[in-house]
Amino acid sequence: MASVLDLIGETPLVEVTRIDRGPCRLFLKLESANPSGSIKDRPARAMIEAAEAAGWLKPGGTIVEATAGNTGLGLALVGGRKGYSTLLVVPDKMAREKILHARALGAEVVLTRSDVGKGHPDYYQDLAERLARETSGGFFVNQFANPANPAAHEATTGPEILRQMDGDVDAVVVGVGSGGTLTGIGRFMRRTSPKTAMILADPAGSILAPLVETGQMVQAGSWAVEGIGEDFVPPNADLALVSQAYEIPDPESFAAARELLRTEGIFAGSSSGTLLAAALKYCRAQDTPKRVVSLVCDSGAKYLSKVFNDAFLAQEGWTGGEKHGTVGDVVVNRVSEGTAVMVRPQDNLRTVFARMRSADISQLPVVDDAGHVVGLIDESDVLAALLTDEQGFERPVSDVMTTRLETIPAHAPIADLVPLFRKDYIAIVMDRGEFLGIATRLDLINYFRIMRR
Ligand code: PMP
Repeated sequence: MASVLDLIGETPLVEVTRIDRGPCRLFLKLESANPSGSIKDRPARAMIEAAEAAGWLKPGGTIVEATAGNTGLGLALVGGRKGYSTLLVVPDKMAREKILHARALGAEVVLTRSDVGKGHPDYYQDLAERLARETSGGFFVNQFANPANPAAHEATTGPEILRQMDGDVDAVVVGVGSGGTLTGIGRFMRRTSPKTAMILADPAGSILAPLVETGQMVQAGSWAVEGIGEDFVPPNADLALVSQAYEIPDPESFAAARELLRTEGIFAGSSSGTLLAAALKYCRAQDTPKRVVSLVCDSGAKYLSKVFNDAFLAQEGWTGGEKHGTVGDVVVNRVSEGTAVMVRPQDNLRTVFARMRSADISQLPVVDDAGHVVGLIDESDVLAALLTDEQGFERPVSDVMTTRLETIPAHAPIADLVPLFRKDYIAIVMDRGEFLGIATRLDLINYFRIMRR
């Protein structure tokens, strides 16, 4: 291979064999095998090369784009190889792995709000367009309307699928972010394999599936899956190609991605979870055998901190059972679920710091070998020890921890937390005599977030 860019495309197709597919056969095309790890390397390269050919992108120019991450990674990879700068505008709900990856590729990343819609100056697409205008030599890629995006899938992804399926495909299940995948594969199939149905997998909260199924434009909600789902119909999304749509709630998408890894060993991201969940529903609803293809849009490695992180699922309120308005509902990291982060009294402050840093928390319960909570340690306790003692990091937790503890039963009403927090205490939550975990102000704020959305 002359360069890493020659590794874009010609991705492998793998059959799903261990999950129930009804009467159908289901195949996944591993777009995660592209060099920046996603399906978006294909359109990224095509859009850059089209802009070069049209003279919109000149040597020394800057590629500017609004992206959930993957398009940006593809642009930064291809653009970087070709000597351009890349400026990416990314909504702030996106996984930090993608942002770190983009910066590591040399891109400049501007984070913007993910809670505003089209027309708002902070909306990622409007902001990217403005920054492109204000940058000399700036080229606004605009994957949502750029015809080179669907064209890349029409020229490569579609033909590869048909060839790998020996010319026999009944359905392709796709998501829509920009619409490039849907429109490109859909157009190719309409021309060369008219029997192939295009099935839309859409996160619940997106307007696309309701629009396809009922013709109604609904108010957009919010969803945690990244890269697919929309609050508008992108010019590149030709929804007339879609014959059926499935709306998949976030917890189901995340669970599908986790199941795919456990049962098939295929490491896929959140949007692939949505696609798989929809593909399985479609397969199981058939009464005759069909040959179905879907995509692994990107790798699960980009979502270790979310899809594959039990603490994230708990923070979203997707684990831990039903909510009853009790203190137990607020506890995110639970001893009983193995997600609580704790230290022992004999550990040193170096260990305390390592645990705080790796779990991104600032207070830890101190639990003895018998499982009893004997103290609490927070960042001010650690700092105080370091300020007064050169050897502070070696000191045992038992020397430094607070032993004034306030315990509260898991079944107490949430309002009982407020007086504790007013006194600057952290609540130690007990469930039938056993330590369940701690409840902090941040946990209570998160509880309000998930109950009020
Ligand atoms: N999955 C992921 C993870 C993505 O980043 C994207 C692109 N935003 C898609 C799927 C959807 O692809 P398209 O833009 O072609 O609709």
